[in-house]
Amino acid sequence: MFVALHVHTNFSACSESPVEEIARYCREREIEAIGITDHNDIAGAQNMQHAAPDLTVITGEEISSRDGEIVGLFLKEKISAGMDLRETCLQIKRQGGLVYVPHPFDRFKVHRVRRPYLMGILDLVDIIEVFNAKISLPIYNAQAEKFAKEHGKVGAVGSDSHYVKSIGSAINVMEPFDSPVDFLDKLSRAEFKTGAASLAATWWVRLRKLARIR
Ligand SMILES: [Zn+2]
Ligand SMILES: [Zn+2]
Repeated sequence: MFVALHVHTNFSACSESPVEEIARYCREREIEAIGITDHNDIAGAQNMQHAAPDLTVITGEEISSRDGEIVGLFLKEKISAGMDLRETCLQIKRQGGLVYVPHPFDRFKVHRVRRPYLMGILDLVDIIEVFNAKISLPIYNAQAEKFAKEHGKVGAVGSDSHYVKSIGSAINVMEPFDSPVDFLDKLSRAEFKTGAASLAATWWVRLRKLARIR
């Protein structure tokens, strides 16, 4: 099955994707499971579940810990922002969730988890994002892939989608799953379909944002 991970809905301030449109897009592209990971909220994921009972929705959250952004997948409850990274990961685990590290080596993302912090939670990490479609430079994805291999961690691809059409830029092709543990197992044998948003597009969006702020 096609699984899209690291997707933002309009419950994230920075995204414009309504859940109904995400659902329609997934049906058109035969994406059967989707991991919704809004910033510091699971309301978008819960909404998605109501809007699209025909899709498998993984409730996730991209949590702003004190030491960088970390994603929890298969959450039952929202986790608060602002705690230290290790405590945040422990809370994910306590809910039976999986710890997913997004864009770990993208030096242009100030909210990434930096290497010393990453090393400090390695025992709790389940998944490393080895391809982020919105990465600032391709080498940062290559570094993540190398890191995952070196440390025996399962890799995954994430679109980090903030608009509907970019969801398809990172698809995990894997067998159907029925629990977080099963998901991790099947993901370890997944194949990836990626088509990065062009670097020019990524940077154009960022520059526009900067221009708006000033
Ligand atoms: Zn992020
Ligand atoms: Zn994100």
